[in-house]
Amino acid sequence: MKEVKSPKKPLIYYYGIVLIVIVLFNLFVTPIIQKHQVTEVDYGKFMAMIEDKSIEAVEVEDSQIIFTDKDTKKIYKTGTMNDPGLTERLYKSGAKFEKNIEQTMSPMTNFLVTGLLPLVIFIALGQYFSRKIQKQMGGKNAMAFGMGKSNAKIYVPSTEGIHFSDVAGEDEAKESLAEIVDYLHDPKKYSEVGASMPKGVLLVGPPGTGKTMLAKAVAGEANVPFFSMSGSEFVEMFVGMGASKVRDLFSQAKEKAPCIVFIDEIDAIGKKRDGQIGGNDEREQTLNQLLTEMDGFEGNNGVIILAATNRPESLDPALTRPGRFDRRVPVELPDLKGREEILKVHAKKIKIAEDVDFHTIARMAAGASGAELANIVNEAALRAVRNNRKFVTEADLEESIEVVIAGYQKKNAVLSTKEKLVVAYHEIGHALVAAKQTNSAPVQKITIIPRTSGALGYTMQVEQGDKYLMTKEEIENKIATFTGGRAAEEIIFGQITTGASNDIEQATKLARAMITRYGMSEDFDMVAMETVNNQYLGGDASLACSADTQKEIDRMVVELVKKEHEKAKDILTENRKKLDELAQFLYEKETITGDEFMTILNKVEENSYNLL
Ligand code: ADP
Ligand code: ZN
Repeated sequence: MKEVKSPKKPLIYYYGIVLIVIVLFNLFVTPIIQKHQVTEVDYGKFMAMIEDKSIEAVEVEDSQIIFTDKDTKKIYKTGTMNDPGLTERLYKSGAKFEKNIEQTMSPMTNFLVTGLLPLVIFIALGQYFSRKIQKQMGGKNAMAFGMGKSNAKIYVPSTEGIHFSDVAGEDEAKESLAEIVDYLHDPKKYSEVGASMPKGVLLVGPPGTGKTMLAKAVAGEANVPFFSMSGSEFVEMFVGMGASKVRDLFSQAKEKAPCIVFIDEIDAIGKKRDGQIGGNDEREQTLNQLLTEMDGFEGNNGVIILAATNRPESLDPALTRPGRFDRRVPVELPDLKGREEILKVHAKKIKIAEDVDFHTIARMAAGASGAELANIVNEAALRAVRNNRKFVTEADLEESIEVVIAGYQKKNAVLSTKEKLVVAYHEIGHALVAAKQTNSAPVQKITIIPRTSGALGYTMQVEQGDKYLMTKEEIENKIATFTGGRAAEEIIFGQITTGASNDIEQATKLARAMITRYGMSEDFDMVAMETVNNQYLGGDASLACSADTQKEIDRMVVELVKKEHEKAKDILTENRKKLDELAQFLYEKETITGDEFMTILNKVEENSYNLL
């Protein structure tokens, strides 16, 4: 889709105009001014001009003589001298004797030239520029300098427009948006039956899942103009501007109907109005204006508003009630198949080796959003260039997953020997606990190369297809796995480090969710103790129970994590030799793959290493 803005004249253009004005002024106006300025000359020149008979008029006063040139019409003045024959000589030279030469000649012209002319030029220029600016803003009722104008970007359909085929996966979302495309193609079909399209459709999902892309694709498929604006752009410094921007956006859209209006981050204006004193007046005014506009136009005028948000629960109910944004299209993080398709779509834009297995890459990139996947492909291409290759290999893609998720390898950050050993044991601790519980390869790869993100090691988990349900046992095993890193440190070094802070957070979160949300504790049965607020942004939860229960929950969470921690320690103690062997391998090679891990684990024991 091509973005078309009214062509902006470069600044140099305006400088050019100013320059031309100055030149013209010098050429035409300055001579006039100069001509009517009184130039002071010496008496000799005066006498010479008398001789030449080139004086037109002359006025002899007590202290000065004023005279004009016949040819140039310039006014001169000079002092008086004791010059007895002057009057006669002047008379002979043909000069006219006049009174008030200066006043008759100059004041009027002076006033015209120095006062009125610049004023006229100024007004003319002002008019010219303001008309130019208005034209550029594209509105008839533009306020001076476009204050309060919506600077919505207008896209017009073009051959390179985005289509549904460019958006990989997200089949459900595409399906529900296809109806809108159909409506925009043939609104009559709908109005004949009396059906009216929803005015607003809310695209809901985590960041980077392709909401903007989908909105553009609807416009692209329907071949209609696309207005796009971000919610935060409405809320500006000046109170009232947001509302006038909304008004303007809609008046533009109505002119161009049928069309799509896309409002990104609608939560920036559509947050619940809480009626707090000192609340954000500007935001509320903007929201009210948006509601008014949406109510104001009839269902079938061809303007469809798509809005995107990743916090639907924070939206004002007024915005989501029927007749406004009453349709909700979930745009979720891609599943395994979706990830594979997205990778393929983006891989088309780069040169890539033929034997790349996108399925494996997609499996490694569990949890990545569309935007992250696009980024992964691009990182891989950059890596290929860095290594002077003409195409991207699977190794490039694998490395770039780590780069996008964990950051670049820190080339010069060297872990001390002891630290590296601790990290090796920590990571193997996690993996070994996981492997012993499930009897399968727990990881794709572990590396202990420090990353720019601050992570000292990185474990790439395997994901065998998508899982939607987890049993109680699986969650417990997961908690044990989280505690495995710390457990290894305790067993081997008898001391603990800060390296486990993220593990602790994750383990606690899972344990708490088991008790408060999944009904997996004996005491509380199937009672929800927590409600999830923010499912697309991390999933904060708020407690919905009494203080006593809260205490009880806290106690149970601690108990649960403790139990799993003990279990992890037991597993590692029982497999101490394997732990040493695997950690030694990782310590030396800095990388261990899932296959290498399983080979060592399943090898029949003969001799063992002892590192300490
Ligand atoms: P959102 O609006 O949901 O935050 P965007 O639509 O801006 O996300 O997506 C950002 C980028 O991520 C897109 O430009 C595109 O390159 C990539 N992307 C996201 N989802 C997909 C998808 N389903 N198919 C292909 N590319 C995608
Ligand atoms: Zn850890």
